[in-house]
Amino acid sequence: MAGRAIVVVLGKQGAGKGTQCDRLSENLGIPHVSTGDILRAAVRERTPLGLEVESVLAAGNLVSDDLVNRLVEERFVQTDALRGALLDGFPRTPGQAEALDTFLGEDGIKVVIDLEVSSELVIERLSSRRVCQECGAIYKDTDVAAISGTCERCGGDVIQRPDDFPDAIARRLDTYERDTAPLKEFYERRGLVVTVDGSRSPDEVTADLVEVLKSRDLT
Ligand code: ADP
Repeated sequence: MAGRAIVVVLGKQGAGKGTQCDRLSENLGIPHVSTGDILRAAVRERTPLGLEVESVLAAGNLVSDDLVNRLVEERFVQTDALRGALLDGFPRTPGQAEALDTFLGEDGIKVVIDLEVSSELVIERLSSRRVCQECGAIYKDTDVAAISGTCERCGGDVIQRPDDFPDAIARRLDTYERDTAPLKEFYERRGLVVTVDGSRSPDEVTADLVEVLKSRDLT
């Protein structure tokens, strides 16, 4: 792999960004950087940052660009990110996309993957999603771990995210259409976007993504 492999993954909430980035992170040997995970960890650990953003997250609103940009800038200088990163949930607004260009230089992003799914499907996925509060493992409401409330990977508590309740889901999808969807066009103008159908099974989507990354010399 030549240079720093920065891969941006766009897609609605519930498109499967987290699941796919976890898999690709192993495949590529570069970290999965999820701003949502970083913010949720801060909330769980009750750090000053976590206390500041807790109600914003629960309501399904966006945290300020300044704050998120700072978090990502700090994450990028950690040694594991020097070879590259899979960015999940960042950038999410035009201001964040500009900040990313500033951190990386305009040719820093190698590819932007748009994981495409319908709103109907994501509403169905998010309503039945359960997550481990400790390690972020994702389950369905019908999985044993969700029913027992105990994560199979780490033993942590498996819960329904406060922003996976219907009102917050609707707000997050509106925000996506307004603030994040325009980024696709922004990156299309640079010829960086590859659209992948996210409505299929996780394995089928991964297989497609691996092909995309291969074709860009990223695996
Ligand atoms: P989802 O994409 O399913 O909403 P994430 O885990 O990516 O979930 O994000 C959860 C929440 O964290 C968002 O609703 C928002 O409040 C906050 N957040 C995450 N990334 C960003 C970002 N780049 N800018 C602003 N807020 C963010």
